[in-house]
Amino acid sequence: MRFENLEIIEPILKALKEQNYSEPTSIQAKAIPLVLQGHDVLGSAQTGTGKTAAFSIPILQHLYLDRERNQRSPKISGLIVTPTRELAIQIGESLTVYGKYTGIRNTVIFGGVNQGKQTDAVRKGVDVLVATPGRLLDLMSQGYISLKDIQYFVLDEADRMLDMGFIHDIKKIIAKLPSKRQSLFFSATMPDNIVELSRKILHNPKKVEV
Ligand code: AMP
Repeated sequence: MRFENLEIIEPILKALKEQNYSEPTSIQAKAIPLVLQGHDVLGSAQTGTGKTAAFSIPILQHLYLDRERNQRSPKISGLIVTPTRELAIQIGESLTVYGKYTGIRNTVIFGGVNQGKQTDAVRKGVDVLVATPGRLLDLMSQGYISLKDIQYFVLDEADRMLDMGFIHDIKKIIAKLPSKRQSLFFSATMPDNIVELSRKILHNPKKVEV
């Protein structure tokens, strides 16, 4: 299996070649085509499986193609929510690397630091926002961020999110998302409370396991 066989566009293939990624990992080979087809996805995958690229690549591709069709100005169209600052930074770096030739802009917001740089970055215009739950809700309540234009939503490391006590924050965030959207949900484990949460977020999901 090669990335070329997954119908990934040239600007992204070029970036993957520069990373010396020779072939997709199992989760990438399974999830990327489903996301490109527009399906919601319920993925059980741990860190280290390549799941970040599995959701980042098709979202970048959707946004790139949307941009080519509509020539729209940047607005927050993709939202990736993840439990920790470290994960948020890693995801932002991945989007920057894979999206190098797409012109799709991302920014990362997380708590524990001054919000000024983060709100400045948001004000300049971003396509994809990577966020931890608390800081996201905080900037939303201050009016810096609206989720009204979100078309692509990812909940990453859902089980860890619940372990860290973010369930109420997550529910508040999903209540603000447009109902017409594509959603991806990743968790290393799938206990009942995670399955229940996934049902609130996903619509007819395709299941992907590694
Ligand atoms: P993740 O599970 O998303 O945290 O990714 C784990 C590591 O695998 C990261 O360092 C990625 O850069 C790397 N990686 C992801 N996809 C591939 C691939 N197809 N080929 C080689 N390395 C990859």
